[in-house]
Amino acid sequence: MKQKHLEQSLTLKSALQEGTECLKKAKVPEPELDAWILLEYAAKVERSRYYLDPERELSEKESSLYMEAIRRRSSRIPLQHITGEQEFMGFSFRVNPHVLIPRQDTEILVETALEKAENHMRILDLCTGSGCIIISLSKMILEGREPAWEIECEGSDISPEALKTAKGNADRLGARVHFIQSDLFENIQGAYDMIVSNPPYIQTSEIEELQDEVRLYDPRIALDGKEDGLYFYRRIIEEAREHLSEKGWLLFEIGWDQKEAVSNLMEEAGYTLVTVKKDLAGLDRVVMGRYNKA
Ligand code: GLN
Repeated sequence: MKQKHLEQSLTLKSALQEGTECLKKAKVPEPELDAWILLEYAAKVERSRYYLDPERELSEKESSLYMEAIRRRSSRIPLQHITGEQEFMGFSFRVNPHVLIPRQDTEILVETALEKAENHMRILDLCTGSGCIIISLSKMILEGREPAWEIECEGSDISPEALKTAKGNADRLGARVHFIQSDLFENIQGAYDMIVSNPPYIQTSEIEELQDEVRLYDPRIALDGKEDGLYFYRRIIEEAREHLSEKGWLLFEIGWDQKEAVSNLMEEAGYTLVTVKKDLAGLDRVVMGRYNKA
């Protein structure tokens, strides 16, 4: 935004207009929505309050916070890296450049795991990132159970910075999840009744074609599924057999075109009841199966 605003104060309404204009010029996909969210963030104003007094002036601090936010968003820094949070399953997760920003597409994985949850289960989330999957799962499984259920929830990730973020999220949201630094199963002990994972699954050659917000700002190691995008599925499917209890479930998020490949990998490795689930957009999104030890 231009210098004049340093002297000339912004009202909520003019801030919204100017912000939208700037984002439009920078070709940000949803300029108006993003300007709104950044205004809510910088001026702590909810939409209902906005309509009561759109001419309210922003304080100097609010104006500079807002203008800086618009400037950063114009350079395609993701909204969530500016506000520092993303909602997932109705919970607010803190995010930063060390973790993949939780996607709405992943909610179907949590919902599917929730359907399979039983008392006394031991559950592992591999490649936990922000911890959004296992934290929501833990909270939702335990919610309203009388008598209380006893489950054990663990999340693992190769990145110490991601684990720090995940721990912070679990503490803030009051979830009892244990986090382990591990390259896949390297430091994982014992057997689980359910293993869930949203591993990196983009083919290396496709990463450069993703939108700037993802390509430049989501951690590369959270995206890159190597040559054919299936590297982590292959390893997890194979190694999980040692870490699943009898009839334990393995559930994955997949990319829209990976249903066949991941289902085949699971069947070839001896998993049964291999099933696919679609997301709200109608795209194949979850593949799950059960490993029968007998
Ligand atoms: N489990 C995290 C999520 O779904 C991170 C996934 C990843 O980094 N590939 O958001």
